[in-house]
Amino acid sequence: MAEAVVIRGLNKQFSSPDSPDRTVHAVRDVNLTVEPGQLVTLLGPSGCGKTTLLRMIAGFEEPTSGDIMFGDRRMNDVAPNRRDAAMVFQSYAIFPHLSVYENVVFGLRLKSLPAADLKAKADRILEITGLTAMQNRSPNQLSGGQQQRVALARAIVMEPKVLLFDEPLSNLDAKLRETMRVEIRELQQRLGITALYVTHDQIEAMSISDRIVVMNGGVVEQVGAPWEVYARPATRFVADFIGKANFVPGKVVDGGVEIAGQKFSLAHPTDQPNGSDVELVLRPEAVALSADSGVFAATVKRAMFLGNVAEYLLEVDGIGEWLVDVSNPGEVGLHERGSRIFVSPSQASLHVLP
Ligand code: ATP
Repeated sequence: MAEAVVIRGLNKQFSSPDSPDRTVHAVRDVNLTVEPGQLVTLLGPSGCGKTTLLRMIAGFEEPTSGDIMFGDRRMNDVAPNRRDAAMVFQSYAIFPHLSVYENVVFGLRLKSLPAADLKAKADRILEITGLTAMQNRSPNQLSGGQQQRVALARAIVMEPKVLLFDEPLSNLDAKLRETMRVEIRELQQRLGITALYVTHDQIEAMSISDRIVVMNGGVVEQVGAPWEVYARPATRFVADFIGKANFVPGKVVDGGVEIAGQKFSLAHPTDQPNGSDVELVLRPEAVALSADSGVFAATVKRAMFLGNVAEYLLEVDGIGEWLVDVSNPGEVGLHERGSRIFVSPSQASLHVLP
């Protein structure tokens, strides 16, 4: 049975490695609930505290204050190997001198199971991780992706209640990362294990998560479904970190907004008072671009063909620079640098930052 992971008021302070009288507040007042069977990613730039948070959940790091619960059991004082949690690392941490099979059953052997049970469990996990045919090989006869699968197999064969991933795909090339993240997600859903997954890759986070925890400077900036953190970012940091964003100055007018003298209605009304100056998030793909007509006139400063989209940097008259992505650029070709064109933001995707 999968278990919820509940984190309450969690803090971690390290004494600074540079000057012992100073402290580094790596994780600050974090509250988080991961529902049973959900996959939640901890996402943020280097140094934001995501690994420290994961390591406290695993039991490798002791919290300065706060509680870590698996279901209704408080885990703070429980040793890592007694938490029913398994961790998959970036460096696979598999034993080079043992075969794939022996790597997978390593933890099970410590449990003194009857031989037949051990073999049955191992066979099932080798099967679902696609390693059956390679079980007698030594790890140095495997590709990076296959080694990562061994690490995954070794974690899930223990039937943990909570599965923890610390940037598991960082050592793989881009194509393999995409395949492996789909595999990890399918496996986690099939087994119904509660999972926490650390990454600094926003596309990876968006593609595999039920919910994303965006962290910055030890603090949780937002927790939400992938579409929420993308379309309704709670802070400027989140908008900027997840995808590309244009920040557009505007004013609240009669429940809508005014941008450079033009009025727009809002799909999601803002609670900011009438007349207040606000900042809007406008995603590059939410702007229509035309040679003939539109809401604002603009000049092309840069045009790049990226295959599925053309990425434009525009100087929008009276507003400033915007990034605009146009899909299917192969069909229409690019507007050249210096061209005068028109842009129209999609009202539905204008988002007022709280
Ligand atoms: P990365 O993606 O680079 O691994 P991260 O988001 O996982 O970054 P953490 O490793 O959790 O960040 O580190 C958070 C902060 O805590 C950083 O400022 C880091 O320097 C500090 N820190 C981490 N471990 C220790 C330690 N053992 N002693 C002192 N400071 C530490």
